[in-house]
Amino acid sequence: MQQMNCGSVKDVRIGSDVILYGWARYIRDHGGKLFIDLADRYGIVQIVFEGETKKRAEEIGKEYVLKIQGKVKRRSKDAIDKDNPTGKIEVIVENFEIINKSKIPPFEITEEKEKYLPSEFLRFKYRYLDLRRRKMLNNVLFRDRITKAFRKFFWSQDFLELETPFLIRDTYDASGSRTFLVPSRIHKGKFYSLPTSPQIYKQLCMIAGLGNYFQIVKVFRDEDPREDRQPEFTQLDLETSFKDEKYIQHLIEASIKYVFKHVLGRDLKTPFPHIEYNVAMEKYGNDKPDMRFKNELVDITDIAAKSDYNIIKSIAEKNGKVKAIVFDADYGSKNAKLNEKDMLDLVEKAKGWGLKGLTWLYFKDKGIRSKPESIAKSLESVSAQLIKRLHPKEGSIILIGADLSESVLLAGISKVRRFVGIKIGKFDTDFAFLWVDHFPVFERDELTGALQPAHNPFVAPTEETVKYLDTEPEKVLGKRYDLVLNGLEVGGGSIRINKPELQYKILKKMGLSDEEIQKSLGFLIEALSYGAPIHGGIALGLDRFVAVLAGQDDIKDFILFPKTKKNESPLDNSPDRISDKRLMEDFNIKIEKPL
Ligand code: ASP
Repeated sequence: MQQMNCGSVKDVRIGSDVILYGWARYIRDHGGKLFIDLADRYGIVQIVFEGETKKRAEEIGKEYVLKIQGKVKRRSKDAIDKDNPTGKIEVIVENFEIINKSKIPPFEITEEKEKYLPSEFLRFKYRYLDLRRRKMLNNVLFRDRITKAFRKFFWSQDFLELETPFLIRDTYDASGSRTFLVPSRIHKGKFYSLPTSPQIYKQLCMIAGLGNYFQIVKVFRDEDPREDRQPEFTQLDLETSFKDEKYIQHLIEASIKYVFKHVLGRDLKTPFPHIEYNVAMEKYGNDKPDMRFKNELVDITDIAAKSDYNIIKSIAEKNGKVKAIVFDADYGSKNAKLNEKDMLDLVEKAKGWGLKGLTWLYFKDKGIRSKPESIAKSLESVSAQLIKRLHPKEGSIILIGADLSESVLLAGISKVRRFVGIKIGKFDTDFAFLWVDHFPVFERDELTGALQPAHNPFVAPTEETVKYLDTEPEKVLGKRYDLVLNGLEVGGGSIRINKPELQYKILKKMGLSDEEIQKSLGFLIEALSYGAPIHGGIALGLDRFVAVLAGQDDIKDFILFPKTKKNESPLDNSPDRISDKRLMEDFNIKIEKPL
C-alpha cells in the first residue's frame, strides 16, 4: 500500500492500492455513489464511495480532511475530465478516516476560474483558505519556481548567499522612504529600525571582501499606502566588487534569461535595449516607459503658441509646455478601437492623473477634426504644421496635454500614454525590458528647492559629470540604472561611491549637517576609509517581477500574507495597540493621547 499525493496518483498502475490524504473540495451525491474531489497542493483527484463506505461518507462536509485507502481505476471514456491531469482515473475508496472536520468556509474554494471573487477583506482574513484556491496555489508555485531559478543561477555564478541584519540603526534613509522603528526592551528609550533595503550592509560586505553576494530578502518601508505597494516586500538583492555597470546589467540579463528558459520555457532576447534617463523623459515623459509599443511624445509648444486654441496657447505663452501623442485608432470606422465615450472617459481619468486639460482630436479625410468642432477650428491656422510634425494617419487619435509645470504635464501624459497604449497600442512583444541609464544624482524638492538624492545618496557620479558637483549639482549624473519591464520599474541599482571624502561631500550637498552625517552615516564613511573596493549592485522587486511574468497586475496575489490598501492585516488584526502596562514596563513608553 503506497501513500501517494493527489497529483501523483495518476502515475501508478491501474489497480494499485493507494493511500491518499487531502481536503474534500467538491462533493456530489449521485444516490448509489458519492463522488468527492480530493485536493492537496499537488493536484485534485476524484474519489468514489460506494455501498457501506458511501453511507458512512455522507457525513463528510466541504474541506474536511480525509485519509482514504482505495484502488486506482480507469474512468469510462465518457467520464474522462480532460481539464484535469488526473482526469483519466478515479480512486474507489475501500476505507477512510476523517482526520479533521471543517466549518463551512466563508467563501467558495473553487478550482475553476473565479465566477465571483470574495471581497479582499474576506480573502485576507481567511488567507489560509484563499490560498487553497487553485489560482492562488498556482501563483505560489509559480513564485517558488522563479525564486528557485534565480537561486540556481546565482549559485552557478559562485555568488555567496549572505544575510544582512534586520535590526539596524535608523540611518539616513537609503531608499527615499520612511522606516519602521522597533523599540528595545533592554535599552529602554532606544530604537532599532527595519531596513528599507540591505543597501548599507551589502556595501559593508563588499568592504569586508565578500564580493560577490546575493540574497532574496524582505525589506520594510513605512510608506503611505498605495494600490500597488506593500509595507514589506521581497527583493532579489546583489552586490559585486571590482565590476562596472555593464557587468551588473549583463549578469541580471543572464539571470532573467535563465528564469525565462527554465520557468516559462521561452528564449528571451538579450541584451536588453538601453535609454538614457534624459531621453526617456523627453520621449516618453517618465523614467519607466512601456516599450511594448513605440508611440512617442512630441513637443508642440511652439505650434501651440501660434494657434488660436486658447487653453494651450496661453500655457505655451507663459512658458509652460504642450505635448502631443498620436495613436492609430481607426477612429470613426467600423474597426474603431476607441469611440467618443472612451475618449471622454479618458479625459476624466487624466484629471485624476493631474492633467487638467487633455484635448483629443482625430484625423479624418486628411484633416484634423474634433468634438466639438470649435477646437479643430481654433487649430486651423497651425494644422499643416501639426500634421507635418505628428504624422497622423486616417483614423489616428491625437492627444494633447499642457501644463505650466513640465513635471506635472509629463507625469500625467505619460500615464495617458501607457493607458491608451495598453488598450490599443501595437505590441512589438509581450515582455519589453529596458535599461534606463544615468539618472541625475540630485533632484530639487519642488516646494523647498532643497537638493535631495534622486535615489539613494550612495550613487557614484559619472566621471564626465562629477565636475559639476560644486557649480551645477543638478547636472551631475549617476552611474545608476533602472530595469523597466512593461512600463513598471522592476529593479534599480548603481555603482557606489567608494571614497569617504566624496561620500561626505554628497551628503553635505544634500543639506545634512556634519553632526547629522556623523550620527547617521559616520559608520559607513569610516568603513569606506578602510580600503573600500569599487563596488555596485542592484535589487529587483521580486513580487512585482513575478506578477508581471505571470501576466497579472496585483502583487498582492503573489504575496502569501499581504496587507490591505490601508497597510492592515485582517488576518491577525495588525497593527494593533499594545497595553499601556507593557509599553511602560518593557519600553518605558507612554502614549500621551491615543488617536
Ligand atoms: N538598495 C537599492 C534599492 O532598494 C537597490 C540598489 O541600489 O542596489 O532600491
